[in-house]
Amino acid sequence: MFFLTGVVVSFILNEDQLAVQDLVRCVAREKVASRASDIDKTAQYRQDMFDLLREIGLFTLPFPFEYGGMGRSLAACIAIEELVRVCYNTGYLLAVQWTPFGAILSGGTPEQKDMYLPGLANGTLRGALSLTESQSGSDVAGILTTAEQKNGGFVLNGSKIWCTGASIADFILIVAKTHGTQEREKVNLYFVDRNTKGLQIGPKEDKMGARGIPSYPLFLDEVFVPSNARLGEEGKGFKIVMEAMNTARPLHAARGVGLAQGAIDHATEFVQQRHAFGQKVSDFQGIRWMLADMQTQTEAARSLVYRTASMVDQGIRGQELAPFAAMSKSFGTDTAMKVATDAVQLFGAAGISSDYPINRYMRDAKVLQIIEGTNQIQRNTVANAILGRPPR
Ligand SMILES: Cc1cc2nc3c(=O)[nH]c(=O)nc-3n(C[C@H](O)[C@H](O)[C@H](O)COP(=O)(O)OP(=O)(O)OC[C@H]3O[C@@H](n4cnc5c(N)ncnc54)[C@H](O)[C@@H]3O)c2cc1C
Repeated sequence: MFFLTGVVVSFILNEDQLAVQDLVRCVAREKVASRASDIDKTAQYRQDMFDLLREIGLFTLPFPFEYGGMGRSLAACIAIEELVRVCYNTGYLLAVQWTPFGAILSGGTPEQKDMYLPGLANGTLRGALSLTESQSGSDVAGILTTAEQKNGGFVLNGSKIWCTGASIADFILIVAKTHGTQEREKVNLYFVDRNTKGLQIGPKEDKMGARGIPSYPLFLDEVFVPSNARLGEEGKGFKIVMEAMNTARPLHAARGVGLAQGAIDHATEFVQQRHAFGQKVSDFQGIRWMLADMQTQTEAARSLVYRTASMVDQGIRGQELAPFAAMSKSFGTDTAMKVATDAVQLFGAAGISSDYPINRYMRDAKVLQIIEGTNQIQRNTVANAILGRPPR
């Protein structure tokens, strides 16, 4: 029974984790918060924010020691939470940097790991991962992009949508299908240099949330890559993607916790200075109880996220990790949506105006419920674990 995991998890952060929290909280307040609204409104990628995160060494947090990292998923969650609390888009820079890393770590050859992981850890290299196609997002095996073995390498053809960070990535890990008996065995990932002939990046998506990091369609027309460009072994792509997603889920859930906490910060400040019926809005019992519920839900989500990240740090993987990863992602990001929506309510009409920051939290939270495996798909994983069914 997966609930009865023997993992002992301490929720008292150790000195290293507290040091990360202090550092990132300080940087977030002093250097990031004042930029958040502009990044959202202009929907521009900010290189100086990327440079700031690189300078203070945040990209290294979840990478294993042998690749120049710190091997700490929980510390990475804490860092992302503190940034997202003030600026979703700056926290998202960490998440994007960590997206291809999980797949390379999980399935890459030793040469591929040596080639890509140190650069991703120190921020001198950027990558993107492109799986989603117009006819299939959740259904990974439903992709139509093909990889054909030819001339000592592979030739890729097809099209993708929603590839985040494609325009600034040095390489894109593209998911494509080759031969194989089972649908899932046909799925593989290929390293494609952004400037490879035949790879075209389409027009930028105009997004409701997550506006500071661009997402694009990709078009692949006879894109040739050498034989060592396939990530790991033939036919293992599906497993690699799933494993990478499982270990990354607490990081995305931490984004939800950060959004929820940030929304509470703004709402708390607002209701204490806003007056109605001759008293502060924060003195109405209905408002006080809403705030209490918002914080309780956020703390519950935080506990689940920290617990799951601790499991990742203790090396727990596969079917033991999967339901926890799924619960933390769905609960963390559903909590972000619920709390941010309540925070907008507490602002009254000001919550609807773009003069105030709060509606940004709601828009960004909605994105989180959909990306990295929708929250319905997460529930399928949890239900399968409860019912003892194989993952689908
Ligand atoms: C801002 C943003 C950035 C993104 N970045 C990337 C990226 O960098 N790389 C990339 O590859 N993709 C990226 N995506 C795509 C994202 O991963 C997909 O949108 C997501 O996986 C859902 O796929 P879909 O949109 O095709 O929805 P669909 O799979 O078509 O689902 C539609 C609806 O049906 C539900 N549904 C589907 N199957 C089931 C089921 N079995 N049980 C219950 N409900 C189900 C879904 O939950 C959803 O509500 C990004 C998306 C966004 C919004």
